Amino acid sequence: MIIISIQGKIEGKIYCSTCKVKTNHGYILKYEETSNDFPEADFQFADSYYITKCLGCDTVAFFREYGDEDMVYLGEFETDKYVYPEEPVVEVPTVNYKYDIQYFKNAPDTILELYKQVVSCYELRHYLLAAVGLRMIIEGFCNDTSISDGYILDKSGNKKLDQDKKEMRKDNLEGRINGMEEAKLITPINAGILQQIRHLGNATVHELEVPKKSTVKKALNIIEDLIRTVYEYKEIKIND
Ligand SMILES: [Zn+2]
Repeated sequence: MIIISIQGKIEGKIYCSTCKVKTNHGYILKYEETSNDFPEADFQFADSYYITKCLGCDTVAFFREYGDEDMVYLGEFETDKYVYPEEPVVEVPTVNYKYDIQYFKNAPDTILELYKQVVSCYELRHYLLAAVGLRMIIEGFCNDTSISDGYILDKSGNKKLDQDKKEMRKDNLEGRINGMEEAKLITPINAGILQQIRHLGNATVHELEVPKKSTVKKALNIIEDLIRTVYEYKEIKIND
């Protein structure tokens, strides 16, 4: 058995694949080749190989440092450093959302795609298209959850009754949004906002009314909460 102990310290911090940041490292083994080992070499160089140990988490890794006489910049001697496992290259996202876009793990792809497109429309200030997209997401929810109908409100915000003074129920989108409120998925105020979106995002109506930015923003936040409740926390029964 080989007793592994730290033989020395690596100068400067290098990447640790466990800590995921640059940390201080010691080395337990060092092998070096320099120009001194090669009498025929006509320039000065040093190539050092280390088996390293992170001084934070003890992960063992490999480090190579190479420098030669041409690598002097502004009077400072510089070296090329290689660490294995390598530090992952950070991918620069192609879309920089100003809106604080949420990331969901369990929501269906169709909902996620709609959500991303709605956020893009919102950022481009295309509020009408954002409302159309939000309406599609709301329809998706209603199809995925067991909510098939709900009450209907009249213009003064009272529940509509039929001739027998019984509560009227409808299985259209209007009714189903209220059904989500009955199921306590959303508050009555949020149901009202979604009703506005339903109305504004109905692309088949002839006179299109462009929604306000604040209405779309509120609706987006409600949708995010719904995605969390329905898909992320799986508190609701999903229809197969
Ligand atoms: Zn570490």
